[in-house]
Amino acid sequence: MDAAHVDNDLVNVLFTEEQILERIGELAQEIETDYDGKELLIVGILRGAVMVMADMARAFTRHVEMDWMAVSSYGSGTKSSGVVRILKDLDTDISGRHVVIVDEIIDTGLTLSWLSSNLSSRNPASVQICTLLRKPEALQMPVDVKYVGWDIPNEFVVGYGLDYRERYRNLRDIGTLAPHVYS
Ligand code: 5GP
Ligand code: MG
Ligand code: MG
Repeated sequence: MDAAHVDNDLVNVLFTEEQILERIGELAQEIETDYDGKELLIVGILRGAVMVMADMARAFTRHVEMDWMAVSSYGSGTKSSGVVRILKDLDTDISGRHVVIVDEIIDTGLTLSWLSSNLSSRNPASVQICTLLRKPEALQMPVDVKYVGWDIPNEFVVGYGLDYRERYRNLRDIGTLAPHVYS
């Protein structure tokens, strides 16, 4: 048991560590098949995608390059500010490269639709998106997500890289927080 469970902060576990690793393994296999014979760069979106990137990269049985971007869209709360800003850009020149953006969750779709067109403007061979979680709200933005772990209800979730005010990222499971945490 981890501390947050003991504190009863997590009221409902949606996905356990075991389920997450299994699903990521499936996604990695799908991507391996699709990019067979091609060089692949996966781009993780800091900070939430750190866990997904680490587990996905190790699920591959092929060579893969990893790079990172940091953008801000949410601030420290639970609502999108509607503004996307690059805090850390890629170190890699992606022209002519096959790129898969890896993120942990797509909510409004604002961040990923903006990122996807930003990367597409750098003349890559291709850009696709992989997200572990997707909320129904994401359908409101025109963002083409090729690889999705699970569609989830419209609730705020934490764990496995997902934070609430920079806490809970280090939980192994994904779940929702008890109301008392927010008050
Ligand atoms: P979007 O731009 O798609 O609305 O949201 C993108 C970012 O918002 C995600 O990468 C994540 O950092 C944050 N976010 C969206 N929904 C959730 C959620 O349910 N829990 C947490 N912890 N972060 C979320
Ligand atoms: Mg994210
Ligand atoms: Mg956050």
